[in-house]
Amino acid sequence: LLQLYAPLNFLGSIYSSIRTSLVDLEHMFGLLEETVEVDDPPNPSPIAARLRDAPPASVTFEDVRFGYRPDREILHGVSFSAPPGSFIAIVGPTGAGKSTISRLLFRFYDVSSGHVRVDGRDVRDYNQSDLRAAIGVVPQDTVLFNDTIGYNIAYGRLGATSDEIEHAARLAQIHDFIVSLPDGYETRVGERGLKLSGGEKQRVAIARTILKDPRLLILDEATSALDTHTEREIQAALRAVAAERTTVVIAHRLSTIVDADEILVLGDGRVQERGRHAELMSHNGLYAAMWAAQDGAQEETQDEADAAGGS
Ligand code: ADP
Repeated sequence: LLQLYAPLNFLGSIYSSIRTSLVDLEHMFGLLEETVEVDDPPNPSPIAARLRDAPPASVTFEDVRFGYRPDREILHGVSFSAPPGSFIAIVGPTGAGKSTISRLLFRFYDVSSGHVRVDGRDVRDYNQSDLRAAIGVVPQDTVLFNDTIGYNIAYGRLGATSDEIEHAARLAQIHDFIVSLPDGYETRVGERGLKLSGGEKQRVAIARTILKDPRLLILDEATSALDTHTEREIQAALRAVAAERTTVVIAHRLSTIVDADEILVLGDGRVQERGRHAELMSHNGLYAAMWAAQDGAQEETQDEADAAGGS
Protein backbone atom coordinates (compact mmCIF):
# COMPACT_ATOMS: atom_id res chain seq x y z
CA LEU A 1 0.00 0.00 0.00
CA LEU A 2 2.79 2.39 0.86
CA GLN A 3 4.40 1.76 -2.50
CA LEU A 4 1.17 2.70 -4.19
CA TYR A 5 0.66 5.74 -2.05
CA ALA A 6 3.82 7.61 -3.03
CA PRO A 7 3.09 7.86 -6.76
CA LEU A 8 -0.53 8.74 -6.06
CA ASN A 9 0.58 11.50 -3.80
CA PHE A 10 2.91 12.71 -6.51
CA LEU A 11 0.08 12.76 -9.06
CA GLY A 12 -2.04 14.62 -6.56
CA SER A 13 0.51 17.36 -6.26
CA ILE A 14 0.84 17.70 -10.02
CA TYR A 15 -2.92 17.92 -10.22
CA SER A 16 -3.06 20.60 -7.58
CA SER A 17 -0.33 22.68 -9.20
CA ILE A 18 -2.10 22.50 -12.56
CA ARG A 19 -5.25 23.59 -10.82
CA THR A 20 -3.34 26.42 -9.17
CA SER A 21 -1.98 27.86 -12.39
CA LEU A 22 -5.33 27.51 -14.11
CA VAL A 23 -7.09 29.39 -11.41
CA ASP A 24 -4.47 32.10 -11.23
CA LEU A 25 -4.57 32.74 -14.92
CA GLU A 26 -8.16 32.10 -15.76
CA HIS A 27 -10.04 33.59 -12.91
CA MET A 28 -7.84 36.47 -12.00
CA PHE A 29 -7.46 38.23 -15.28
CA GLY A 30 -9.22 36.20 -17.92
CA LEU A 31 -5.92 35.25 -19.46
CA LEU A 32 -6.51 31.57 -20.07
CA GLU A 33 -5.92 31.75 -23.77
CA GLU A 34 -2.90 33.98 -23.68
CA THR A 35 0.60 32.74 -24.19
CA VAL A 36 2.81 34.19 -21.54
CA GLU A 37 6.27 35.02 -22.75
CA VAL A 38 8.30 35.93 -19.74
CA ASP A 39 11.37 34.08 -18.47
CA ASP A 40 12.71 33.58 -15.00
CA PRO A 41 16.15 35.14 -14.41
CA PRO A 42 19.19 32.86 -14.01
CA ASN A 43 19.87 34.16 -10.48
CA PRO A 44 16.51 35.18 -9.06
CA SER A 45 16.28 37.50 -6.07
CA PRO A 46 14.36 36.14 -3.10
CA ILE A 47 11.07 37.77 -2.12
CA ALA A 48 9.03 37.07 1.01
CA ALA A 49 5.47 36.00 0.26
CA ARG A 50 3.55 36.33 3.48
CA LEU A 51 2.89 39.36 5.63
CA ARG A 52 3.69 37.31 8.73
CA ASP A 53 7.28 36.94 7.43
CA ALA A 54 8.03 40.45 6.14
CA PRO A 55 6.60 43.99 6.04
CA PRO A 56 4.09 44.95 3.32
CA ALA A 57 5.59 45.22 -0.15
CA SER A 58 6.37 48.46 -1.94
CA VAL A 59 5.37 48.99 -5.57
CA THR A 60 6.83 51.45 -8.05
CA PHE A 61 6.02 52.05 -11.69
CA GLU A 62 8.76 54.10 -13.35
CA ASP A 63 7.81 55.60 -16.68
CA VAL A 64 6.26 52.32 -17.82
CA ARG A 65 5.49 51.90 -21.49
CA PHE A 66 3.73 48.79 -22.68
CA GLY A 67 1.64 47.40 -25.52
CA TYR A 68 0.19 43.93 -26.04
CA ARG A 69 1.37 44.27 -29.63
CA PRO A 70 4.37 46.26 -30.80
CA ASP A 71 2.24 48.44 -33.07
CA ARG A 72 -0.18 49.57 -30.37
CA GLU A 73 1.16 51.09 -27.19
CA ILE A 74 -1.37 50.94 -24.33
CA LEU A 75 0.52 52.58 -21.45
CA HIS A 76 2.43 55.68 -22.51
CA GLY A 77 4.74 56.29 -19.57
CA VAL A 78 2.95 55.53 -16.29
CA SER A 79 4.64 56.35 -12.98
CA PHE A 80 3.44 55.95 -9.43
CA SER A 81 4.70 54.77 -6.11
CA ALA A 82 2.96 52.74 -3.41
CA PRO A 83 5.02 52.72 -0.20
CA PRO A 84 4.69 49.71 2.15
CA GLY A 85 1.21 49.59 3.69
CA SER A 86 -0.27 52.28 1.46
CA PHE A 87 -3.59 52.21 -0.35
CA ILE A 88 -3.53 53.28 -3.99
CA ALA A 89 -6.62 53.52 -6.16
CA ILE A 90 -6.75 53.49 -9.94
CA VAL A 91 -9.85 54.86 -11.62
CA GLY A 92 -10.71 55.72 -15.18
CA PRO A 93 -12.96 54.70 -18.07
CA THR A 94 -13.08 51.22 -19.58
CA GLY A 95 -10.06 50.62 -21.77
CA ALA A 96 -7.90 53.18 -19.95
CA GLY A 97 -5.34 50.52 -18.98
CA LYS A 98 -6.26 49.77 -15.35
CA SER A 99 -6.21 45.98 -15.63
CA THR A 100 -3.08 46.18 -17.73
CA ILE A 101 -1.31 47.76 -14.75
CA SER A 102 -2.30 44.83 -12.53
CA ARG A 103 -1.18 42.32 -15.17
CA LEU A 104 2.23 43.99 -15.33
CA LEU A 105 2.48 43.83 -11.54
CA PHE A 106 2.01 40.09 -11.82
CA ARG A 107 4.46 40.10 -14.67
CA PHE A 108 2.14 38.37 -17.07
CA TYR A 109 3.95 40.54 -19.60
CA ASP A 110 7.17 42.53 -19.69
CA VAL A 111 7.22 46.28 -20.16
CA SER A 112 8.66 47.72 -23.35
CA SER A 113 10.49 50.40 -21.37
CA GLY A 114 10.66 51.65 -17.80
CA HIS A 115 10.45 49.54 -14.66
CA VAL A 116 7.87 47.79 -12.53
CA ARG A 117 9.43 47.36 -9.11
CA VAL A 118 8.29 45.42 -6.07
CA ASP A 119 10.35 45.92 -2.91
CA GLY A 120 12.59 48.20 -4.96
CA ARG A 121 13.60 45.49 -7.42
CA ASP A 122 12.49 45.09 -11.00
CA VAL A 123 9.91 42.29 -11.17
CA ARG A 124 12.14 40.66 -13.82
CA ASP A 125 14.65 39.91 -11.03
CA TYR A 126 12.25 37.48 -9.35
CA ASN A 127 11.02 34.03 -10.20
CA GLN A 128 7.45 34.47 -11.43
CA SER A 129 6.11 31.95 -8.93
CA ASP A 130 7.82 33.74 -6.01
CA LEU A 131 6.50 37.11 -7.16
CA ARG A 132 2.96 35.80 -7.55
CA ALA A 133 3.08 34.17 -4.13
CA ALA A 134 3.59 37.64 -2.62
CA ILE A 135 0.55 39.11 -4.40
CA GLY A 136 -3.05 38.35 -3.53
CA VAL A 137 -5.96 39.17 -5.77
CA VAL A 138 -9.62 39.51 -5.05
CA PRO A 139 -11.04 39.32 -8.57
CA GLN A 140 -14.32 40.74 -9.86
CA ASP A 141 -15.84 37.35 -10.27
CA THR A 142 -14.73 34.26 -8.39
CA VAL A 143 -15.29 30.83 -9.85
CA LEU A 144 -15.67 28.13 -7.23
CA PHE A 145 -14.44 24.56 -7.50
CA ASN A 146 -16.92 21.71 -7.31
CA ASP A 147 -15.67 20.89 -3.87
CA THR A 148 -16.49 21.78 -0.29
CA ILE A 149 -16.72 25.41 0.77
CA GLY A 150 -13.91 24.67 3.23
CA TYR A 151 -11.64 23.52 0.40
CA ASN A 152 -12.56 26.58 -1.62
CA ILE A 153 -11.20 28.75 1.18
CA ALA A 154 -8.26 26.47 2.01
CA TYR A 155 -7.18 26.78 -1.58
CA GLY A 156 -5.70 30.17 -0.61
CA ARG A 157 -2.99 28.25 1.22
CA LEU A 158 -3.22 24.49 0.91
CA GLY A 159 -2.05 23.00 4.16
CA ALA A 160 -3.76 25.57 6.38
CA THR A 161 -5.35 24.16 9.53
CA SER A 162 -9.10 24.16 10.05
CA ASP A 163 -8.65 26.81 12.75
CA GLU A 164 -6.86 29.06 10.27
CA ILE A 165 -9.58 28.48 7.68
CA GLU A 166 -12.27 29.37 10.17
CA HIS A 167 -10.37 32.48 11.30
CA ALA A 168 -10.10 33.66 7.67
CA ALA A 169 -13.81 32.96 7.14
CA ARG A 170 -14.70 35.01 10.21
CA LEU A 171 -12.62 37.98 9.04
CA ALA A 172 -14.24 37.71 5.62
CA GLN A 173 -17.70 37.70 7.29
CA ILE A 174 -18.69 34.37 5.76
CA HIS A 175 -18.30 32.06 8.77
CA ASP A 176 -21.85 32.55 10.10
CA PHE A 177 -23.27 31.81 6.68
CA ILE A 178 -21.15 28.65 6.36
CA VAL A 179 -22.19 27.19 9.71
CA SER A 180 -25.84 27.77 8.75
CA LEU A 181 -25.40 25.42 5.76
CA PRO A 182 -26.53 21.78 6.09
CA ASP A 183 -22.98 20.38 6.20
CA GLY A 184 -21.15 23.49 7.40
CA TYR A 185 -17.62 23.71 6.00
CA GLU A 186 -18.15 20.32 4.30
CA THR A 187 -21.02 21.63 2.16
CA ARG A 188 -20.30 21.13 -1.52
CA VAL A 189 -20.50 24.26 -3.66
CA GLY A 190 -20.01 25.18 -7.29
CA GLU A 191 -21.85 24.09 -10.39
CA ARG A 192 -22.62 20.65 -9.02
CA GLY A 193 -23.27 21.80 -5.46
CA LEU A 194 -24.86 24.68 -3.65
CA LYS A 195 -24.97 27.84 -5.71
CA LEU A 196 -23.63 30.87 -3.88
CA SER A 197 -24.66 34.45 -4.58
CA GLY A 198 -22.19 36.94 -6.02
CA GLY A 199 -21.65 38.50 -2.60
CA GLU A 200 -21.04 35.10 -0.95
CA LYS A 201 -18.58 34.08 -3.65
CA GLN A 202 -16.72 37.32 -3.20
CA ARG A 203 -16.44 36.71 0.53
CA VAL A 204 -15.05 33.24 -0.20
CA ALA A 205 -12.44 34.94 -2.40
CA ILE A 206 -11.63 37.36 0.42
CA ALA A 207 -11.27 34.50 2.92
CA ARG A 208 -8.94 32.72 0.49
CA THR A 209 -6.80 35.84 0.24
CA ILE A 210 -6.71 36.34 4.01
CA LEU A 211 -5.44 32.78 4.28
CA LYS A 212 -2.82 33.36 1.60
CA ASP A 213 -1.62 36.36 3.64
CA PRO A 214 0.11 38.19 0.76
CA ARG A 215 2.27 41.29 1.26
CA LEU A 216 0.61 43.03 -1.65
CA LEU A 217 -3.06 43.02 -2.48
CA ILE A 218 -4.81 43.82 -5.74
CA LEU A 219 -8.54 44.39 -5.61
CA ASP A 220 -10.44 44.33 -8.84
CA GLU A 221 -13.77 45.77 -7.80
CA ALA A 222 -16.94 44.26 -9.21
CA THR A 223 -18.70 46.52 -11.67
CA SER A 224 -22.11 45.04 -10.95
CA ALA A 225 -24.27 46.65 -8.32
CA LEU A 226 -24.80 44.75 -5.08
CA ASP A 227 -27.56 45.61 -2.67
CA THR A 228 -26.61 48.03 0.09
CA HIS A 229 -26.44 45.39 2.81
CA THR A 230 -24.19 43.02 0.83
CA GLU A 231 -22.08 45.94 -0.28
CA ARG A 232 -21.48 46.96 3.32
CA GLU A 233 -20.52 43.44 4.34
CA ILE A 234 -18.10 43.14 1.45
CA GLN A 235 -16.52 46.47 2.27
CA ALA A 236 -16.02 45.45 5.88
CA ALA A 237 -14.44 42.16 4.75
CA LEU A 238 -12.17 43.98 2.31
CA ARG A 239 -11.01 46.35 5.00
CA ALA A 240 -9.99 43.33 7.07
CA VAL A 241 -7.81 41.96 4.29
CA ALA A 242 -6.42 45.32 3.17
CA ALA A 243 -5.41 46.45 6.66
CA GLU A 244 -1.61 46.62 6.97
CA ARG A 245 -1.05 45.41 3.42
CA THR A 246 -0.01 47.48 0.45
CA THR A 247 -3.21 47.64 -1.58
CA VAL A 248 -3.84 48.60 -5.18
CA VAL A 249 -7.53 48.81 -5.99
CA ILE A 250 -8.98 49.05 -9.46
CA ALA A 251 -12.03 50.98 -8.46
CA HIS A 252 -15.42 51.24 -10.06
CA ARG A 253 -17.29 52.75 -7.16
CA LEU A 254 -15.73 55.99 -6.09
CA SER A 255 -17.16 55.76 -2.58
CA THR A 256 -14.67 53.00 -1.72
CA ILE A 257 -11.58 55.10 -2.43
CA VAL A 258 -12.11 58.35 -0.55
CA ASP A 259 -9.53 57.19 2.01
CA ALA A 260 -6.89 56.26 -0.56
CA ASP A 261 -3.36 57.59 -0.01
CA GLU A 262 -3.24 58.36 -3.70
CA ILE A 263 -5.84 58.17 -6.45
CA LEU A 264 -4.59 57.82 -10.02
CA VAL A 265 -7.03 58.91 -12.69
CA LEU A 266 -6.02 56.96 -15.75
CA GLY A 267 -7.10 57.92 -19.24
CA ASP A 268 -5.72 56.80 -22.60
CA GLY A 269 -2.79 55.02 -20.98
CA ARG A 270 -1.63 58.07 -19.03
CA VAL A 271 -2.10 59.31 -15.49
CA GLN A 272 -4.29 62.35 -16.13
CA GLU A 273 -4.71 63.41 -12.51
CA ARG A 274 -3.37 62.22 -9.18
CA GLY A 275 -3.82 63.07 -5.53
CA ARG A 276 -6.03 62.46 -2.55
CA HIS A 277 -9.79 62.67 -2.76
CA ALA A 278 -10.13 66.20 -1.35
CA GLU A 279 -7.34 67.57 -3.55
CA LEU A 280 -8.84 66.06 -6.67
CA MET A 281 -12.32 67.31 -5.82
CA SER A 282 -11.12 70.87 -5.35
CA HIS A 283 -9.14 70.59 -8.57
CA ASN A 284 -12.52 70.25 -10.32
CA GLY A 285 -11.21 68.14 -13.20
CA LEU A 286 -11.85 64.59 -14.42
CA TYR A 287 -12.18 63.05 -10.97
CA ALA A 288 -14.71 65.63 -9.81
CA ALA A 289 -16.64 65.04 -13.03
CA MET A 290 -16.67 61.28 -12.36
CA TRP A 291 -18.21 61.94 -8.95
CA ALA A 292 -20.86 64.17 -10.44
CA ALA A 293 -21.70 61.48 -13.02
CA GLN A 294 -21.77 58.70 -10.43
CA ASP A 295 -24.01 60.58 -8.04
CA GLY A 296 -26.54 60.96 -10.83
CA ALA A 297 -26.44 57.28 -11.82
CA GLN A 298 -26.14 55.83 -8.33
CA GLU A 299 -29.65 56.27 -6.96
CA GLU A 300 -31.12 54.51 -9.96
CA THR A 301 -28.76 51.52 -9.82
CA GLN A 302 -29.13 51.18 -6.10
CA ASP A 303 -32.92 51.15 -6.32
CA GLU A 304 -32.72 48.39 -8.94
CA ALA A 305 -30.29 46.31 -6.89
CA ASP A 306 -32.34 46.64 -3.73
CA ALA A 307 -35.53 45.75 -5.58
CA ALA A 308 -33.86 42.63 -6.98
CA GLY A 309 -32.90 41.54 -3.46
CA GLY A 310 -29.32 42.12 -4.42
CA SER A 311 -26.26 39.93 -4.77
P1 ADP B 1 -9.30 48.84 -18.26
O1 ADP B 1 -8.93 47.81 -17.24
O2 ADP B 1 -8.98 50.23 -17.83
O3 ADP B 1 -10.70 48.71 -18.74
P2 ADP B 1 -7.44 47.38 -19.93
O4 ADP B 1 -6.15 47.48 -19.23
O5 ADP B 1 -8.19 46.09 -19.79
O6 ADP B 1 -8.36 48.61 -19.55
O7 ADP B 1 -7.23 47.61 -21.48
C1 ADP B 1 -6.47 48.70 -22.00
C2 ADP B 1 -6.39 48.56 -23.50
O8 ADP B 1 -5.66 47.38 -23.82
C3 ADP B 1 -7.74 48.41 -24.19
O9 ADP B 1 -7.69 49.15 -25.39
C4 ADP B 1 -7.83 46.94 -24.50
O10 ADP B 1 -8.57 46.72 -25.67
C5 ADP B 1 -6.39 46.55 -24.69
N1 ADP B 1 -6.16 45.14 -24.28
C6 ADP B 1 -6.44 44.61 -23.07
N2 ADP B 1 -6.08 43.31 -23.01
C7 ADP B 1 -5.54 43.02 -24.22
C8 ADP B 1 -4.96 41.84 -24.79
N3 ADP B 1 -4.85 40.71 -24.07
N4 ADP B 1 -4.51 41.92 -26.06
C9 ADP B 1 -4.60 43.06 -26.77
N5 ADP B 1 -5.13 44.20 -26.29
C10 ADP B 1 -5.60 44.21 -25.03
